Amino acid sequence: MKRTLAAPNDPLLQKVSQEIPIESITQPETQELIEEMLDVAYDNRIDRTKPTVVGLAAPQVGISKQIILVDIGASKRGGLSNLQVYINPKITWQSEEQDEWCEGCWSTSRVAGAVSRASRIKLEAYTREGKKVIEEHEGYVARIFQHELDHLQGQEFISRIADPEKLHWVEKEEWVEYKANEGWRDWPKKCSREKWEKIKGTTQ
Ligand SMILES: [Zn+2]
Repeated sequence: MKRTLAAPNDPLLQKVSQEIPIESITQPETQELIEEMLDVAYDNRIDRTKPTVVGLAAPQVGISKQIILVDIGASKRGGLSNLQVYINPKITWQSEEQDEWCEGCWSTSRVAGAVSRASRIKLEAYTREGKKVIEEHEGYVARIFQHELDHLQGQEFISRIADPEKLHWVEKEEWVEYKANEGWRDWPKKCSREKWEKIKGTTQ
């Protein structure tokens, strides 16, 4: 089945995703869901060298299960792509030290913002072969994991922004400017909480 990105007001984005029983990971049904997510991430079935995203969570493409894709080769300024599949991921430790950086999301329309997150994390998860992995990540990659794990809990990065000055409106063609020279730090176009609630469909 060909998957497309869920609209920002899709109720699935506000739901806690289901864990996958370990013995089901290698089953064809689960493997097919993973393939469908990879198809979206690479925008087609053939060329799987350059993902179009640094991260993707299953509920973003209509699958309410604990599967995420994270590009562990990503950095704030590009980097060599290395998109990996993580099943039932859990953060088992996070540093008290936090970093602030900008985030956007395929599931939040043009809403972006500055989010504080733990600089380092320890993570437990399963590979698509059903093997348990324990990994440590830092910086931008640690941020991607935290962003995607939020999706599995029915949360979006916006719920982590308390300061209205840090919630922004960024048109597609403004992204380069938003990220370059940390333009997000004093981005003039704000997105009000009301506007976001409206996009999300929680108010009429
Ligand atoms: Zn997202």
